[in-house]
Amino acid sequence: MESFDELLNQAEAAHGHLCAGQILGVRMALLGLSRLGFDGPPQGSDRKRLVTYVEIDRCATDAIGLVTGCRLGKRALKFRDWGKMAATFVDLATGRAIRIVAIEDSRELADRLYPQLETKSQRQMQAYRELTDSQLFREQWVRVALPDNELPGHKGGQFLCPRCGEGVSFGRIAVVNGERLCLSCAHPELSYWEPVDPQP
Ligand SMILES: [Zn+2]
Ligand SMILES: [Zn+2]
Repeated sequence: MESFDELLNQAEAAHGHLCAGQILGVRMALLGLSRLGFDGPPQGSDRKRLVTYVEIDRCATDAIGLVTGCRLGKRALKFRDWGKMAATFVDLATGRAIRIVAIEDSRELADRLYPQLETKSQRQMQAYRELTDSQLFREQWVRVALPDNELPGHKGGQFLCPRCGEGVSFGRIAVVNGERLCLSCAHPELSYWEPVDPQP
């Protein structure tokens, strides 16, 4: 398997720069994988065993995707926008899942341990390399209910929303006054966009 530094190089290349988040993300993903019994990034058919939930869209998330091989486009990377530096690694073959959270104290610890380093980022990068897993992370075994239509490779029919005429996959529909609608028609208040006319 790839060494920590090889994985970090790959993460840096994919993410565009080396940062504390890449180091933290690689560490977090390797810890999750090892708890599930994987000896590093899953290879071959094992790649299909893993689903990863991430809870923040920051630097570390890219590294977690890279190390686990879980990608959004494969439905193996799930995003919950909770603003937390946390991830849950699910082994579909065994049903075992572990949620790992980065401990906030590690930032202060970094400042105390490496005062000789000039910037906060340098101190964090050093800490994320050297601190032990238990200094950096809290872990909890969890159960993750993954319905069929959440699984990678799920095939389901497509639904055509009668209101907007757009196609919807994976059963992402809601019933409003007896009418089956796509989620943006069913919950316009939750929509992230609104039409503008004329063109700005
Ligand atoms: Zn970054
Ligand atoms: Zn619609």
